[in-house]
Amino acid sequence: MSGKLIIFSAPSGAGKSTLVHYLLGRGLNMEFSISATSRPPRGVEKDAKDYYFISAEKFRQMIDNKMFIEHEEVYKDCYYGTLHSEVERITASGKNIIFDIDVKGGLNIKRQFGDRALAIFIAPPSVEILHQRLNTRGTDTPEMIKRRVEKADFEMTFAAQFDLVIVNDDLEKSKNEAEQAIRHFLNSESV
Ligand code: 5GP
Repeated sequence: MSGKLIIFSAPSGAGKSTLVHYLLGRGLNMEFSISATSRPPRGVEKDAKDYYFISAEKFRQMIDNKMFIEHEEVYKDCYYGTLHSEVERITASGKNIIFDIDVKGGLNIKRQFGDRALAIFIAPPSVEILHQRLNTRGTDTPEMIKRRVEKADFEMTFAAQFDLVIVNDDLEKSKNEAEQAIRHFLNSESV
């Protein structure tokens, strides 16, 4: 059955993006929901592939024009949001949609779509390990890492509201667990 929604949320550094990329290559008839953001591109990120990169001003106009299913100011002055047009585009092509979005946005979509959505929370084994991973990844300044770790503590408090929590202490195990849960969900007649 197509037209279902798979939501991945996690504190940053928990390994969510790695899992999402893996799952996109598993023949599950899923397409990635490209979010809009007002933060600038990082490294090799490309417009209309990783995100739709737009200015904060344009973002606010689009909020006023009710173009988002959900949006959050994830970090100060950094807006992120899921566009109605993106979900319509993917659904029209007969595919399921996979989201990589923050915890509040993920729960917001789950509330709107109910049984049509599977909300998965990826938890790091501990906040200390998350801290180490962010340091090793080396893509953030120490100040940004501090912000992300503080935010992670808060985000962990939402885990219980998700349909499934995967503790990412072993990447291979997490990949299998996520894939099995998604296959089961896509094959079920819950909608
Ligand atoms: P990053 O800047 O590292 O790409 O993303 C920062 C956070 O914003 C991540 O937790 C990411 O999942 C989240 N995010 C990305 N797109 C969206 C979106 O459309 N809506 C919401 N609410 N969060 C998003």
